[in-house]
Amino acid sequence: MSVTHEVLNQATPLADANLFQLNLPLQDALAWHHPGYDRARFDALGAEAGSAEIQVHARLANFHSPVLHTHDRFGHRIDQVEFHPSYHALMGSALRHRLHATPWTEGAGGHIERAAAFMLFTELEPSILCPVSMSYAVAPALRAMPALFKDWLPKLASTRYDARFLPFTQKSAVTMGMGMTEKQGGSDVRANSTRAEFVGDDAWGRRFSITGHKWFMSAPMCDAFLVLAQTSSGLSCFFLPRLLPDGSVNALRIQRLKHKLGNQANASSEVEFEGATAWLVGDEGRGVPQILAMGTITRLDCALGTAGLMRQALSIALHHTAQRNAFGKRLVEQPMMKNVLADLALESEAATALAMRLARAVDRTENGQDAHEEVMRRLLTPIAKFWVCKRGSHFAQEAMECLGGNGYVEEQGEGVMARIYREMPLNSIWEGAGNIMALDLLRVLRSKDVAAALQHEFAPARGAHPALDRAAERVLVGIDTLADEAQARRLARDIALLLQAALLHRSSSAVFSAFCTSRLDGAADVFGLLPAGTDVDAILQRAMPSLH
Ligand SMILES: Cc1cc2nc3c(=O)[nH]c(=O)nc-3n(C[C@H](O)[C@H](O)[C@H](O)COP(=O)(O)OP(=O)(O)OC[C@H]3O[C@@H](n4cnc5c(N)ncnc54)[C@H](O)[C@@H]3O)c2cc1C
Repeated sequence: MSVTHEVLNQATPLADANLFQLNLPLQDALAWHHPGYDRARFDALGAEAGSAEIQVHARLANFHSPVLHTHDRFGHRIDQVEFHPSYHALMGSALRHRLHATPWTEGAGGHIERAAAFMLFTELEPSILCPVSMSYAVAPALRAMPALFKDWLPKLASTRYDARFLPFTQKSAVTMGMGMTEKQGGSDVRANSTRAEFVGDDAWGRRFSITGHKWFMSAPMCDAFLVLAQTSSGLSCFFLPRLLPDGSVNALRIQRLKHKLGNQANASSEVEFEGATAWLVGDEGRGVPQILAMGTITRLDCALGTAGLMRQALSIALHHTAQRNAFGKRLVEQPMMKNVLADLALESEAATALAMRLARAVDRTENGQDAHEEVMRRLLTPIAKFWVCKRGSHFAQEAMECLGGNGYVEEQGEGVMARIYREMPLNSIWEGAGNIMALDLLRVLRSKDVAAALQHEFAPARGAHPALDRAAERVLVGIDTLADEAQARRLARDIALLLQAALLHRSSSAVFSAFCTSRLDGAADVFGLLPAGTDVDAILQRAMPSLH
């Protein structure tokens, strides 16, 4: 009781809840794609990610952003970034829970479990997952350097996080990043001006000297990076470590850290290479496809990460509205609020389903040969990255509004919804912004039999809802007739919605039916427009069983 008034009707934070046990859509996706999944692993991660104790680390790591030290106090150049101890605590947890390169050393199902774990961890803190994701994604590109891959993979897959600035041989685990974007071009990396001069051969392969810059290079304290630079044969991909094998510091200068909208716990830097040593990855002149072997996997993580953030925002909105009263009822009981929350729940489940479907395609194609899954992996990468990430910001705004004014207030990092909102646009921009994904869809249409693959995907759901059947016909015609590049976004959206509907056929009938009705017969422009007769109670019950 304060002197002037009693504090009443304020919701408690969502803390000490098991995020996995609350998340039926994620449990169902895991059970479908990988029936033998390790339930105990997820119960443990769900408890840790939802604990009040680790949420404090997420707040502190974001509130105390990383600091760049270009020089020591004696004037020596050091180029080191200092992170709050909470950043390291989160990194340690992420590696312990195998969110990075471990699936490359595991068997079938490893990528599916990692994907689900990555999504779950995002509900705790997304920005530290940038280096974690890049350390996962780098393996396929690095395979082109067998000797180096043999040396680095065990450290990339190690679960014992090691933040020390030491040569990789002395560390228990390493992390990796990527540098493509330059001042004059990020989407069109062919404009890269950074140059690479051949120096000599050694045990890791062809060694070059790199001179130039990168305008964005996140997580600059990673142990090594894949970077693009021009040789006389064209744009090529290079492995550039921060410390050289003899222990000396490589000539990578961190010029500045970006002052970003969100993603505060992660450092994103501008760097220069002053004759830095690097090793060629793959063939000279084939840098784009080589680094895209990494980029396509980080695109998976963009979709997973956004689906995780959506789920977090939804859980907070449900938790809040179940406690807050207005006009004589709990908010969650007010008819229009139920409509909004149920609509958000549909979107969240659809995002989870689509991102996990892509993870399955990655897993199947990495652990064997499967022609259908190859096409789905190629198709779903731009589709899921485009659509799930595009929906993120819109979703976060509506979830924030469910909390009213409290949603907009950060209070030194304690207002998690505002942090989610600032984070949301990022996954849509980096690793190929929306238009770049839609353009990539056009490339897929030219190179794969997408129509046949989609027919196969839709088959189990055909006949289950008239809106789905109508949309399927429309999309298949659209694939055949798309001639205008400017219409690629529309097609990307339509394919995404249809795939989401087909995936939700496996969910509750209330979810499937409401999704088809609200999304396939003309996509809604704001949340909360579910038509009369929608079983919102069943949808909300599935979204958060503990509400009722
Ligand atoms: C926080 C943060 C961290 C980052 N970290 C990294 C990193 O670690 N490594 C790295 O290499 N990069 C990183 N990036 C850079 C990011 O990947 C690029 O910003 C992104 O790829 C877009 O490139 P750009 O900024 O040069 O924009 P541009 O290429 O100029 O694109 C601007 C807009 O034009 C659109 N566009 C481009 N071409 C076409 C076209 N042909 N038709 C229609 N539309 C088009 C794009 O979709 C985009 O919306 C990071 C960015 C951010 C914000």
